Amino acid sequence: MTPRRNPVRPSISPALRRVGAAAAGLVLVGVAASGCGSGEEGSSSDGGAAPKVLATTSILADVTDQVACGKLSVEPVVPLGADPHEFQPTVRDADRLQGAALVVANGLGLEEGLSDSLDRARDEGTVVLEVGPDLDPEEVDGEQDPHVWTDPERMVTAAGVIGERLGEVSGLGVGKEEIARCTAAYQQRLRDLTTSMTATLAAVPPERRALVTAHESLGYFADRFGFRVVGAVIPSTSSLGESDPRQLDELAAEVRAAGVPAVFGEATSPGKVASALADRVGSGVQVVALGSESLGPAGSPTATYVELMQVLAADVAAALGPAPSAPAAPTTAG
Ligand SMILES: [Zn+2]
Repeated sequence: MTPRRNPVRPSISPALRRVGAAAAGLVLVGVAASGCGSGEEGSSSDGGAAPKVLATTSILADVTDQVACGKLSVEPVVPLGADPHEFQPTVRDADRLQGAALVVANGLGLEEGLSDSLDRARDEGTVVLEVGPDLDPEEVDGEQDPHVWTDPERMVTAAGVIGERLGEVSGLGVGKEEIARCTAAYQQRLRDLTTSMTATLAAVPPERRALVTAHESLGYFADRFGFRVVGAVIPSTSSLGESDPRQLDELAAEVRAAGVPAVFGEATSPGKVASALADRVGSGVQVVALGSESLGPAGSPTATYVELMQVLAADVAAALGPAPSAPAAPTTAG
């Protein structure tokens, strides 16, 4: 395969740059189609006939696939279960990014390990659509919070942004009108998701609506569903930040004072982080691993974004829900 030629000059406006890049991506894919079209139909990961659409995270891959009526099988660059903050691409991942017509990315600093590869792909003509900046991002301690997907209402907007851009890519095998229709239907499912999560979380009384997480990952969720963020073990919107012992002691005191019954760790970076805090708090606090940064494998209860958020709400409700008002009646054994 010959390398793409798409000299991008800094003087070109970003809008024109995107148009040029899109065209270059499509030209590239056209070459790939004519070169590899004989008998490799089943190989979806090494370049097929249609323009390749990738997403950085499994969550965005699912959302992109949904707005494309499920017809694209969009692949995530960050593998299922991996931490999107720290994922480092292989050479093959970098090649996939450069060969894609469109890469849907979160932005706002989420994909730290991928940023060089994304820049290089952009320079080679791949269109990288970062949705985060369009989703009313918030700042936490001077850092933009990238965890926009923990608020399903923001993902209504994200679906619209992705659908619109996908509709501009020709040759996908799914037309612009079809994408618009599936986008609207999916947006309605996301609104319904907000409703169902609100209902699930209604089990948590106001005084227990307090979140303590491994890093600052649930700020948008907290805003949307009426929780307060007490603090994070790593006081950063990235899991790559550092915690320090004095700050941890202070947070432990706050958790104890507030009577927060659970500290949430992440399924993508299991282990020590949340338990370091729980150990300081002492008894009465449990560590609960939440899946919020990656989907689970196909067939698992968190295989789609909607399912992931429903499970997240259920797990938060179970961990923080009302303390049992009376001890259960002892059961007679045997
Ligand atoms: Zn995170």
